[in-house]
Amino acid sequence: MSTILIIEDEPELVKVLRSYLEQAGFNVLAAGRGDTGLSTWEQKHPDLVILDLNLPGMDGLDVARAMRRKSNTPIIMLTARVDETDQLIGLELGADDYIPKPFSPRVVVARVRALLRRAEPTAAAQVLRSADLEIDLDAHTATRAGQAVELTPTEFSLLTVMASQPGRAFSRLQLLEATQGTAYEGYERTIDAHIKNLRAKLEPDSAGGRKNPRYIETVFGVGYRFVKGE
Ligand code: CA
Repeated sequence: MSTILIIEDEPELVKVLRSYLEQAGFNVLAAGRGDTGLSTWEQKHPDLVILDLNLPGMDGLDVARAMRRKSNTPIIMLTARVDETDQLIGLELGADDYIPKPFSPRVVVARVRALLRRAEPTAAAQVLRSADLEIDLDAHTATRAGQAVELTPTEFSLLTVMASQPGRAFSRLQLLEATQGTAYEGYERTIDAHIKNLRAKLEPDSAGGRKNPRYIETVFGVGYRFVKGE
């Protein structure tokens, strides 16, 4: 049974989310402050975190930053802020997904399921290779020149989708569909944030490979593609 940690300061919201998630078969932990949420996370090692942005004790973005320094636990951010910048900052910090408030608890449960599925190792053992990059679909790991590259579930799944068909240009919408199972047209720009993170981790070019990408090329006016191997 997967354990979900909800870090949210609105008790009513916690109550509703808890009830939906428990009905869906999840074990639920909750914290009402950013700092206590972070310590619960450290002690209990939940499988996924639902994190509010606006929190007492410690801001949601700081909580996400602290978590990402130590692990790749999937994070879904909840945001009441209309400002899209906050959402993009959240994704750049390594959150896997975000859900704007108000939301339907059913949508949250569906996104939790999708994200956990992505974090699971696939059934068939398979390894994708390109130049010095190796992606082990079974172990859910990536290495570059023999060095482990730490990727979040979303980054891993984006990379896998593109690297499975090198040379093919994917639109942002296609990448969104492939990684989330459902397309949210308004969220296409979130793909850019994930690609930026992925490049910073993968590309040997210190500028994140934007000018001289070895693996992930920008296809102007379309989206992205994985470079065909040597
Ligand atoms: Ca809040």
